Order: sequence, then C-alpha cells, then structure tokens
Amino acid sequence: MPNDKEICQRCEKCKKKLVGDIELAGMGCGSHRVVLLFRETPDRNWIQCDGCNRLLCKNCCEKPKSGYCNSCFIKVHIPERTEVFAKGGKR
Ligand SMILES: [Zn+2]
Ligand SMILES: [Zn+2]
Repeated sequence: MPNDKEICQRCEKCKKKLVGDIELAGMGCGSHRVVLLFRETPDRNWIQCDGCNRLLCKNCCEKPKSGYCNSCFIKVHIPERTEVFAKGGKR
C-alpha cells in the first residue's frame, strides 16, 4: 500500500527536496482582516511565495525573508518603499 502521508515536495527550480514545515504560531489582527502568523521549523529550507504560491528552496530564492520568489519580489518591492514585510512579526 502506498503511503502518501508524507508529501515529498520539491523546489520548482532545482528540484531539490524540501524539508521542514510551517506551523501556526498564532493570530493577529490586521486593519480589516485576521492575520494568521506562521513560523517555520528550524530545518525548513524552502519558502512558499506569497505572490504566486510557488515552492522554492532558499538557495533559489534571493529574498527568502521577504516571503516572495525572485520575480514576485521585484513586483512588490517598490524602490521608494524599502520597508520589508516582516512575516510573523508585530509592529
Ligand atoms: Zn531550488
Ligand atoms: Zn512568486
């Protein structure tokens, strides 16, 4: 019997096996919506782009802290606004 419980995900770019996961760390309130706060497990080596939902390993993503893949980061990153969206952080 196949056991597909453990999903083997791979980077869309280099096909590297992705390990680690995201866990729910809590909830916060945005200006007009509830924001779920996630944090990654220490062994996590990938990100899921907030823009296009693609899975990328951190080697293939130039700005893993931003939560965006390279092409989406360029789209959302307007030069005048150097402020980076801190994932899971409070302001
Ligand atoms: Zn990769
Ligand atoms: Zn993207």
